[in-house]
Amino acid sequence: MDKLFASIITIGDELLIGQVIDTNSAWMAQELNKIGIAVKNRIAVGDNWGDIWNALDETAKHAKIVLITGGLGPTSDDITKPLLCSYFGGKMVIHEPTLVHVTHIFEKILQRPMLEVNIKQAEVPDVCTVLMNEKGTAPGMLFEKNGVLFISLPGVPHEMKWIMSQEVLPLLPKKFKTTPIRHKTLLTAGIGESFLAELIKDFEAQLPPSIKLAYLPNNGMVRLRLTISGEDEALISAQIDHQFELLKQGVQEYLVIDNDLPMETVVSNLFKANGKTLATAESCTGGYIAHLLTAHAGASAFYKGSIVSYSNEVKEHLLNVPLEVLHNHGAVSELTVRYMANNCRNQLNTDYAIAVSGIMGPEGGSDDKPVGTVWIAVATSKKTITKKINLRYNRERNIQLTAFNALNLLRLSICG
Ligand code: ATP
Repeated sequence: MDKLFASIITIGDELLIGQVIDTNSAWMAQELNKIGIAVKNRIAVGDNWGDIWNALDETAKHAKIVLITGGLGPTSDDITKPLLCSYFGGKMVIHEPTLVHVTHIFEKILQRPMLEVNIKQAEVPDVCTVLMNEKGTAPGMLFEKNGVLFISLPGVPHEMKWIMSQEVLPLLPKKFKTTPIRHKTLLTAGIGESFLAELIKDFEAQLPPSIKLAYLPNNGMVRLRLTISGEDEALISAQIDHQFELLKQGVQEYLVIDNDLPMETVVSNLFKANGKTLATAESCTGGYIAHLLTAHAGASAFYKGSIVSYSNEVKEHLLNVPLEVLHNHGAVSELTVRYMANNCRNQLNTDYAIAVSGIMGPEGGSDDKPVGTVWIAVATSKKTITKKINLRYNRERNIQLTAFNALNLLRLSICG
């Protein structure tokens, strides 16, 4: 039997000029993978009739499932719908349930009159099965031709995800025989990819060929992922569980968590489990740590707030960093972050506080303190620990890595 493959076609000029980053196909590929469907290829095309047509022809040669996103809107540059109508030999008809849905959105939610173009959103080729879009106006459409399933979805990510989750992902295993696939991921910190490879070379050497190991470095951490696929679900689960235990032992010293979670979630979970509270005093990260922590629901259980002390004035007046410390040691110094962390903890009345102060660049460095110099402190009522790091990236990445290092120092301080 031929292996089951999917292909993804993303449509839109904006993708080709780099104005919009194609996050849709990354998400779709991940979700397909989880249900045991491998993606053969991903193609991005502009809003061009010939290019979209060719992409459909091309992908259908190798894939049984072709997922398409974008170009479904009512404007003249959105040509996907008429093109699909022509490709599958149908004619446009009004889909009544979609018309009712679109009318409801305009009358009740947007409270705006519907234009002729909005009514066009409810038109679909009569040869498709409509996938209702509760989150927007452009419906999804499903076509079949020569045993290949073509599914066209809106480009707007949250609309696409909704239709995928509600309709497409549950449908695919019913229509095709998929091969079970298992992934297990752990996070490491404090060790680079090549050193990690050296550390676990014996583990890699004994790994059975059916299990693949992937190194995924990102923002100061390296994720290690094991993957296995096979018909016997119980067998592949047992094999991967066994190897995952060996891997965990191999990286024990650097293991953050045996799961695929961002660092802020790891820290949040520790706080929630311990019932402790946290505040942040952020200079060079300008509130980015606070943003990371509060981007996930439930942060109010442990996170009290931040003093974004970007200027020396705020460090002095709100965090009581003595002026002579700022003058003699500088804003980016061990003593300054000590004061920041301790006084932030006192002001906001928390168990823990993090403070960061650094030079993010591209300007502001000196021989003494080049761009990328960062001091971090973590304070509790019993002690304050500090760490200096030297980063060497652009401003954006320096900010991300400062936040990551601060959260990791906090994690280490909680875990003792
Ligand atoms: P709708 O009619 O609901 O707007 P649509 O299918 O017409 O849906 P597009 O006009 O192609 O969608 O895209 C709408 C927006 O969705 C784009 O401006 C872009 O921000 C986002 N988008 C489109 N394609 C992608 C993609 N592949 N990855 C991430 N975002 C995308």
